[in-house]
Formats: sequence, structure tokens, C-alpha cells
Amino acid sequence: MKYRGTILIKQLGRIPMPPSKPLVSAASLFVLKSIYDTTPEPLEKFEIDEKRNQYDASRILSRLTSKSKPEGVDYVLYVMGEDLFVGKFNFVFGVALPSFKIALLSTYRLGMNAGWKLYEERIFKEAAHEIGHLMGLEHCYNSNCIMSFANSVLDVDRKLPILCSDCMRKIGLI
Ligand SMILES: [Zn+2]
Ligand SMILES: [Zn+2]
Repeated sequence: MKYRGTILIKQLGRIPMPPSKPLVSAASLFVLKSIYDTTPEPLEKFEIDEKRNQYDASRILSRLTSKSKPEGVDYVLYVMGEDLFVGKFNFVFGVALPSFKIALLSTYRLGMNAGWKLYEERIFKEAAHEIGHLMGLEHCYNSNCIMSFANSVLDVDRKLPILCSDCMRKIGLI
């Protein structure tokens, strides 16, 4: 099989990343080869918004965008266990910067009222959502599609673990 690129899936902060399976599967959906790296990239003190007690994605990204990617790596998905927000949102599951080919995923809220299987499925969906942005996809109006925007775990659970045919066509997967 010919991969469309390599994605580094890297732990961000001290909370251990989930096991590789749902993360690697999310990369495979886009025919990306993945490197699963549990060596943590540290989170910095100034990246927390002290009043909200949440990490500010824009502060994290402004630092991470200045780092160069390791040889042979096209994309980076950073996975953190801490709570994350950006801009006007109370929280976000993730943020992607397609122009820099990096994305963040926070697993903090994905475990809510979930056993292991559901937790893994949510990680798969939201990791695939962020990787989809990196591959050039925007939000999709099909609420079953992984690329539909999720503002709660209910939204995540409502999605199917698939890309709709429109999204697949847009990036040449069909
Ligand atoms: Zn999105
Ligand atoms: Zn779609």
C-alpha cells in the first residue's frame, strides 16, 4: 500500500496517551503511516489560562508551530489529557492548523460516562476529525460524518465512525 504521508502521534503533557489503537486507526483512515510516540512534549506553565484552569490552544500552537518536524514526518497530532479551549469556546476536543500540518487532541472530556470501548471509539472519531482537517477537509453538514463539528460527547456519539462519501471524494479516497 502506498501511504499518503507520515503522521507523528505524540504525547503532549504528562498525562499518559491512550493506547495506540484508536489513534493509529484514525491515521489509517486517511492512508497515513503513523509513528506513535509516548515521549512527552512538555506543556508550559504559561499555556494554562489560570482563571479557567484550562489550556489555551492558541498559546500551545503558537509555540508548537515554531518547532521543526522530525525527518520524514509530514503531520503531527499532539494528544493531551488536560482540558483545552480556544477562542470563544468553553472547551474543544481538538484544534487543527492545516497550514502548519499540526493538530491537538484533548482526551479530557472523551471519557465522560464511557466504558473503555466507547472511550476508544470517541478517541478514534475525534482524532480522525482533526486529521481530516490536516488533510484539507472542513466541517461537514452531514451529522453522521466524522467531519461534523462536535460540541459535546453526545455529538461525538451521534457521529458514525466514518467519513461521508462527499468528504471521501473531496480528498480523493474514492
Ligand atoms: Zn473541526
Ligand atoms: Zn462529511
